[in-house]
Amino acid sequence: MQRRDFLSGAGLAAVLPLGAAQAAPEALKQLPAIRWRLASSFPKSLDTIFGVSESLARRVAALTGERFQIRVFAAGELVPGLQVLDAVGNGTTECGHSAGYYYVGKNLALAFDCAVPFGLTARQQSAWMYAGGGLEALRTLYAKYGVLQFPGGNTGAQMGGWFRKRIKSLADLKGLKMRIPGIGGQIMAKLGVVPQTLPGADIYPALERGAIDAAEWVGPYDDEKLGFHKIAKHYYYPGWWEGGPQLAFYVNQAAWRALPEIYRQAFEAACAEANQLMLAQYDARNPPALLRLVGQGVQLHAYPKDVMLAARRATFELYEAEAATNPDFAAIYRPWKTFRDTAFQWFKVNEAAYANFNYFVK
Ligand code: CA
Repeated sequence: MQRRDFLSGAGLAAVLPLGAAQAAPEALKQLPAIRWRLASSFPKSLDTIFGVSESLARRVAALTGERFQIRVFAAGELVPGLQVLDAVGNGTTECGHSAGYYYVGKNLALAFDCAVPFGLTARQQSAWMYAGGGLEALRTLYAKYGVLQFPGGNTGAQMGGWFRKRIKSLADLKGLKMRIPGIGGQIMAKLGVVPQTLPGADIYPALERGAIDAAEWVGPYDDEKLGFHKIAKHYYYPGWWEGGPQLAFYVNQAAWRALPEIYRQAFEAACAEANQLMLAQYDARNPPALLRLVGQGVQLHAYPKDVMLAARRATFELYEAEAATNPDFAAIYRPWKTFRDTAFQWFKVNEAAYANFNYFVK
């Protein structure tokens, strides 16, 4: 089966008994034709991230006999990329694809729907969301914004960014201008960095003319396309502020209530598929991209330990201070922290031993 056929749903008919493939659309003809619009926070150039919205739309259509259609719009086509939560909440559009940490200006607790520094890996985020109480806790928070959310993809641990000069200790960060948005930027500021928030397209020119000294984006596959390696040769890991950032599909609460139950089931299943698909694509595409970058002279470095330790200390000071004044944050942070600490205890026993032996022992 061709991969494209599989994603389009055309492949599904090929593996079903003939009768089943024909009977389902017949029954679905009794259901209303519904058209939704999906506002993505992302540009088409991020094919992996943007692409899962298109695969979601194709799967929903295929599962409903083409009765439930979702048209996908890139960032800026329907609404600006950072206004997707508002647009879905107020009904400007029925659904969207975005990242919770874009909206920390509304409530810092929304970042738990995506990534917080020194937080969960992609697998642990899925465990917390689907089986550890995370989804329920975050849905209580999102309800305040008129939105129902579903996990919608993960990049896996991101890289720690591109630097024009090597960073050998915490002192080397002092005064450095780095493109790093969100809570990661707030923590970097505590370490002496001057954080900048720039959209993807503006990073390369800023780095090229020396307006910034460093920049983080995603990981090898996406970073290679933006060409940072042509200017900054030092590529750091790990992206400790994004250990497993998860994106989300947002649905307007009233639009959701108006959907026939079978369409809700199709949408929810398609979200779960998209959530898995994005991580799989990154895990398949990042390894060869990293090899290509190293082949072009990129030097890989781990963040110095004093930087990591200072960043982690500053991070948990920030969480504790926020929990003391923000009840929404405290309500999610406290059980999240217990889940995280317990997960880390388990992962360091078995997963870490397996990884350490296989990755490092010759
Ligand atoms: Ca990033």
